[in-house]
Amino acid sequence: MSTLYIVATPIGNLQDFSPRAVEVLQSVDYIACEDTRTSGHLLQRFQIDKPTFSFHQHNEHRKVGHLMNILDAQQDVALISDAGMPGISDPGFLAVRAAQNGNHTVSVIPGPDAATTAVVASGLPCDRYIFEGFLPHKKGRQKRLGQLAEEELTIIIYESPNRLLKLLGELEEHFEPDRLAAVARELTKKFEEVVRGTISELKTEFESRDSIKGEIVVIVSGKGYSE
Ligand code: SAM
Repeated sequence: MSTLYIVATPIGNLQDFSPRAVEVLQSVDYIACEDTRTSGHLLQRFQIDKPTFSFHQHNEHRKVGHLMNILDAQQDVALISDAGMPGISDPGFLAVRAAQNGNHTVSVIPGPDAATTAVVASGLPCDRYIFEGFLPHKKGRQKRLGQLAEEELTIIIYESPNRLLKLLGELEEHFEPDRLAAVARELTKKFEEVVRGTISELKTEFESRDSIKGEIVVIVSGKGYSE
């Protein structure tokens, strides 16, 4: 029986890479990476020199067989994504399921993820929340937004910088415009910021900017919440 390690990597600040994560990556036989080039820089920086192979959303159905062959040959594999916790809006789930079904050990090495970092930083209730991840781009998007508008728990949404204004406009339309929300940008990085306000205020703020760059999480308070 061998072990599949699911290893969290930093979402920006390299000092968030845990010593245990580094130790595990230095000990395994193979590292499955969402992007071997992106992870290559990180691995080199931490003197981790192991064979890697790609494991991303477009090949994971195929590559899970390769991963299982390695585990079945009594070798250990670690899975990492470009940033944060594998499996959270990233490849991971299929590998975990296959390894467990194959009676291998699955060991998760926890670490940073953008969702929990953002919800805590938002100043909105974070004892219970729903993690939405990325909304569908087209089909089902408006329906899902309508459903989320009725949600009473704090909502965490991943969004790309070039769609932030579109999302804030949609939130304004589907939710009450004075619903409290926050935009968390570039968490743990040099230009980290958390902008709080009503949905309308956030839209006005980001519309006034020349450009919107970096990685973004949008947090929206649940229906009925007020301060
Ligand atoms: N697995 C990752 C995690 O644990 O958070 C998420 C991967 S998902 C493909 C990438 C999205 O996470 C980005 O589009 C953004 O919404 C969010 N994200 C990742 N790093 C971030 C950061 N430093 N600041 C804000 N959002 C971030």
